[in-house]
Amino acid sequence: MDSKTDKINLMNFDRKALAEWFAARGEKPFRAQQLLKWVYQQGVDDFDAMTNLSKALRDSLKQDAEVRGLKVAADQKSTDGSRKWLFELEDGNRIESVYIPEAERATLCISSQVGCALNCSFCSTAQQGFNRNLTAAEIIGQLWMASRLLAEDDRLPVSNVVFMGMGEPLLNFDNVMTAVSLMQDDFAYALSKRRVTLSTAGVVPGLKRLAEVSDISLALSLHAPDDALRNELVPLNIKYHIDEVLQACKAYVGEGRRRVTIEYVMLDGVNDSDGHARALAKRLRHVPAKINLIPFNPFPRARYQRSSTQRIERFRDILHNAGIVTITRRTRGDDIDAACGQLAGDFTDRTRRRERLAVEVTGDFS
Ligand code: SAH
Repeated sequence: MDSKTDKINLMNFDRKALAEWFAARGEKPFRAQQLLKWVYQQGVDDFDAMTNLSKALRDSLKQDAEVRGLKVAADQKSTDGSRKWLFELEDGNRIESVYIPEAERATLCISSQVGCALNCSFCSTAQQGFNRNLTAAEIIGQLWMASRLLAEDDRLPVSNVVFMGMGEPLLNFDNVMTAVSLMQDDFAYALSKRRVTLSTAGVVPGLKRLAEVSDISLALSLHAPDDALRNELVPLNIKYHIDEVLQACKAYVGEGRRRVTIEYVMLDGVNDSDGHARALAKRLRHVPAKINLIPFNPFPRARYQRSSTQRIERFRDILHNAGIVTITRRTRGDDIDAACGQLAGDFTDRTRRRERLAVEVTGDFS
């Protein structure tokens, strides 16, 4: 799986694209369904094992194509059952995915980009800067690898996927949508729209496009009730203000029973006062929303601290009393740095941003 080839990786295709690819080779389009079942439902990457394809077809596939997963660079298991994988990509970049089992479901948190361009002040991925978009194969490959490795270990299979790892999914729209299509496809993972959640910092044009092509669940990283504070925490807010972002989220979830999940990281003394909670409730009055409070997860050189448990409880009570369903996200995988905002990965630092950061921090300009 680790040597570079010129073969086309079929994991870059959703069912429609795969059917077209087969058709262009003079094959029946239903071959796409057969192939998807082998690859995603059986975890098979070897064409020879695909016994309902003719020998001639298998041989021709082997010539031109491959099913290429990701290389595991590290596999860490937490005492609480969660697990973090560091995957190495063909160009040496590294990304992370986290598996979070609960009583009746198991969530995989996946990455959509190597690094991130948004520069949120409380996020460790931001420190890397942006390197590149992941291909569709690299996105769905995280789920494919996790599913295979979990089956080997006899663990609960992934039932939910969240785009809450590294990167901004709406800034890698097409590849994310190809991967989502495979997640939802009955011949692949067959996950319902409720079980796939895209989390965004609020890329308004992306939200509008998403509404046209998808019905998956939506989470918005809000983190502040007013524009001045949000500009500091999520600089993308300078471009797309809270009102516009909330309007786009509202349009996305529509008039039905669906709600947008509002993510709110609890930063001690920054966005966690009673006044912030009241302002947040007011701001969300006409938005069908539920709130996830995320205790801040520290990382090296972070300039924030986590709000106290009592503060988070008080903040939650205010929102609750305002009639908004609010839960506090439990921190999982503490012992393996697998929590939100701690996914650092590693990449070939083309912009040398990390070195520049190190210089700023140490003052060493030599
Ligand atoms: N770019 C997307 C998805 C990646 S971040 C987005 O902004 O939603 C996934 C979630 O983790 C976001 O809500 C993000 O704000 C949160 N997060 C980032 N850093 C964090 C930290 N250090 N502690 C807690 N949550 C953090």
